[in-house]
Amino acid sequence: MNLLNDEWIPVRQLEGSKAERITLQHLLCGDKKWELCLPRDDMELAAMQLLICITQALVTPVTSNELKNYIARPLPETDYEKAAQPYADWFQLDHPKSPFMQVHGVEAKDVTHMDKLLAGVTGATNSCFVNQAGLADGLCSGCTAVALFNQASCTPSFGGGFKAGLRGSSPITTLIQGDHLRRTIWLNVLAEDSIQQYMPWHESTRGQEPTWIAPIKSGEIKVEQIGFLRGLFWQPAYIEMQPPVTADSCSCCGIKTDFVFKSFNKAKFNFTIIGTWPHPHSPRVMTTKKDQKQEKYAAFTTAAPAWTQLSRFVVKQEIDETNAEGQQPAAVILQIRKLYGTNSHRLHLLIGGYRANKASILERCHEVFTLNHGWDHHTNVIHHMVSLGRGYRDAIYKAIYVFVQGIKDIKGAGVKLTQSTETQFYRRAEPVIENTLSRIEFTNAEPELAGMRHALKDIAQSLFRESVQPYLNDPELIRTMAVARKTLYKHLNNLEPQSEKGGDDGATEKS
Ligand SMILES: [Zn+2]
Repeated sequence: MNLLNDEWIPVRQLEGSKAERITLQHLLCGDKKWELCLPRDDMELAAMQLLICITQALVTPVTSNELKNYIARPLPETDYEKAAQPYADWFQLDHPKSPFMQVHGVEAKDVTHMDKLLAGVTGATNSCFVNQAGLADGLCSGCTAVALFNQASCTPSFGGGFKAGLRGSSPITTLIQGDHLRRTIWLNVLAEDSIQQYMPWHESTRGQEPTWIAPIKSGEIKVEQIGFLRGLFWQPAYIEMQPPVTADSCSCCGIKTDFVFKSFNKAKFNFTIIGTWPHPHSPRVMTTKKDQKQEKYAAFTTAAPAWTQLSRFVVKQEIDETNAEGQQPAAVILQIRKLYGTNSHRLHLLIGGYRANKASILERCHEVFTLNHGWDHHTNVIHHMVSLGRGYRDAIYKAIYVFVQGIKDIKGAGVKLTQSTETQFYRRAEPVIENTLSRIEFTNAEPELAGMRHALKDIAQSLFRESVQPYLNDPELIRTMAVARKTLYKHLNNLEPQSEKGGDDGATEKS
């Protein structure tokens, strides 16, 4: 199966149609409006990233203007054929010498079942992580390619000494969502000028092939040695699919197929990357430790939802006297600001990733945020909104903490309430934040911000009442409740605009 010519892309038409498989040429050169169609949101995001990376390999626009043309209209068939021709050997899943993202002759004591290639199917303990039984029994070629790519670049390693991808074990991916699949792909392809800007060694590594075409030695590898395309298709393990077996249909996407992949061999590839490779689809966070600058990819490390990190996704921030932490949005997000300048469009920001603990995935997190027109010139407003949201979270959290723990000689309720109240706050605050982002007039933000403060304050107050109510038949706790409520009001008042001038903008972060 060749990803450049065969029908492997699982789609359906936006206007509604049944699921079908189309080729990349059909997708890029046709004028139909498609969307991806797979049973899991993470598989869809992985398929989209894979399509973006393949398109990037075939056609990298020289300038932003050229890119705008690709975004605007379908690619001529002859252009596709010319662009794909040199890459026929890169993308064949069952290539006799260089199978896609695999190596030949991997020796392993035991074969590994396909469920290890589908992130989170085994070892998941979290009930949010729902997988239908038998999802990985046997995968069609398309699902296998997507799973291979996802395992290599978006998920924790296999564990037991296996390495994770270049972005670490569970990076957050941020992409721009267009109004249909073809446009989404081009909106996330970088033009040459953008690549050179964020990857200074691009010129000297331009001709590099992926590691399954041009194998590399294990050991220390400097980031400057990894070129743009090699990095996009980095494979951190040695993997070889076992020959497929006959079947009727794919256990993941359900398509009718004559054969499926059921297992693979894997072996460790021992490498150490010196530095952080600048992946164009993910935001990074910079900190300083003992005068040493450290950089890592943003991840879902707590149960906090994506909006709490929204500022990282779109606002660039250097480390300076007032900011101990720096942040670097994904190159594709920075490029879109450059592409459309003052005519900035509404931005649909696609965010995805896993919440993981070491090699085990606890939860999938996938969301789309809509940012209203003008967002790119008012990123400070987005920064402020996120700070406010976190401020209200802190206010309710601190008040409930006082109720649970007590203070000085005042008895605490001694029950576990903080976590559940925080989760409730996140759940109820999410639509408020989403609506504000999509509606806000960035040049006149205050009315929407006032509405947001009002709504979040209401949520904090009702949550406080609901959380403490069941314990108030204990007379001692009535006093505790009064003290906790005082704490709540103190923090809520600090979040009102007039007190912001006093220095406390409620942006204090709870670790
Ligand atoms: Zn399938």
